[in-house]
Amino acid sequence: MKDVTKVVLPESEVPKAWYNILADLPSPPPPPLHPATKQPVGPADLDPLFPREVILQEVSTERWIEIPEPVREIYRLWRPTPLFRARRLEAALRTPARIYYKYEGTSPAGSHKPNTAVAQAFYNRQEGVRRLTTETGAGQWGSALAMACRMFGLECTVYMVRVSYQQKPYRRILMETWGAEVIPSPSDRTHAGRSIREQDPDSPGSLGIAISEAVEDAATHEDTKYSLGSVLNHVLLHQTVIGLEAKRQMELVDDYPDVVIGCIGGGSNFAGLSFPFLHDKLRGRNLRVVAVEPTACPTLTKGRYLYDFGDTARTTPLLKMYTLGHAFIPPGIHAGGLRYHGDAPTVCLLYDQGYIEAVAYPQTAVFEAAVTFARTEGIPPAPESAHAVRRAIDEAIACREAGESKAILFNLSGHGHFDLAAYEEYLSGRMRDFDYPEADIRKALEGLQALQPA
Ligand SMILES: *Cc1c(COP(=O)(O)O)cnc(C)c1O
Repeated sequence: MKDVTKVVLPESEVPKAWYNILADLPSPPPPPLHPATKQPVGPADLDPLFPREVILQEVSTERWIEIPEPVREIYRLWRPTPLFRARRLEAALRTPARIYYKYEGTSPAGSHKPNTAVAQAFYNRQEGVRRLTTETGAGQWGSALAMACRMFGLECTVYMVRVSYQQKPYRRILMETWGAEVIPSPSDRTHAGRSIREQDPDSPGSLGIAISEAVEDAATHEDTKYSLGSVLNHVLLHQTVIGLEAKRQMELVDDYPDVVIGCIGGGSNFAGLSFPFLHDKLRGRNLRVVAVEPTACPTLTKGRYLYDFGDTARTTPLLKMYTLGHAFIPPGIHAGGLRYHGDAPTVCLLYDQGYIEAVAYPQTAVFEAAVTFARTEGIPPAPESAHAVRRAIDEAIACREAGESKAILFNLSGHGHFDLAAYEEYLSGRMRDFDYPEADIRKALEGLQALQPA
């Protein structure tokens, strides 16, 4: 097996359980707080929005949580995903490093997001829910949920940020092909949407507004619940199939990563690949784990570790996380999936305790890496995933300079087939970098002291 280009596992090796890192954390994560009382949020507070099983998973400390067979059956449509050895990239870089990547772009939606969408749709179906609502920016999450709902016979309503709805039709068409209803947000469907439109009839929308609409729609309909694509523990849990498969695949080529790399928006693909390896690190194994973010939205590298709202509209519980402030609106970089103001609380705890590292890159450096990768390995990465590619290349160059052969593993969380306009901008020389938005971040952080518990 040692000289293979890709490691493909049989369907029987789709994992049978997800790995829950909450069982192994050195200290329990700070709980979500109710914004008014500053008391921990209880399961009852989440009842209107999420199915019981998902709420239980959110707080579970069981190390292994069984994957229901109907979920594994759908996973088998594209899982196990391949692990590649990037031999052509290694040769181009003249590096002694061994570069591996786990490729999640083989899912029908083209990213890792269906790993949790399918599980969430299953639990809702099992508990008699008829319809799911969610928000989407460019449409990666909306399309994953649209597909998952279709497979379990649920209706799906997606509130899509209006400007993306108008400018990026292809993922909307994909969602509609899977049978979802896609509504440009702000809309007239909800109180939240109507009040924004009264003030600003031409509002381009934002993820924060779309979240408010999707949550309100679910909370006001008995047979409807809401679904979230990143940040929360149950989402990270479902994504661990990525790392569990990768560990088995590395074992088959008789290797183990010295460094594990993932891009980070809310933290789900990063956690999905890295948590099963952090399981070993928390037991004393020596390895580095690196989260890669954009300099335009530098949550871990420049944020503060504080309680903050999960959304711009201040409707969610308070989460303890590295944050740039819920009011911070990052510059419009192409990696839309990395523009979140916070990160998953579990990932933030691990960062705070020094188990993981973080780095930030500007987008032209990221696209340079993306094009190098496409020209050697063939796959044009999603702009988000290209952040991980950039770091993997830099680690490999450092190996060349030090004359060291390390094993580098990164997550290629999705392909860039729907992001070709960004590639065109880069190739034509029109892409520019944004300055680190220091003044905006300082302003957005100012309001946070009032949110902290006594
Ligand atoms: C949504 C998305 C991301 C960012 O979300 P995470 O929860 O941080 O993983 C990264 N890569 C791709 C391809 C995405 O679609």
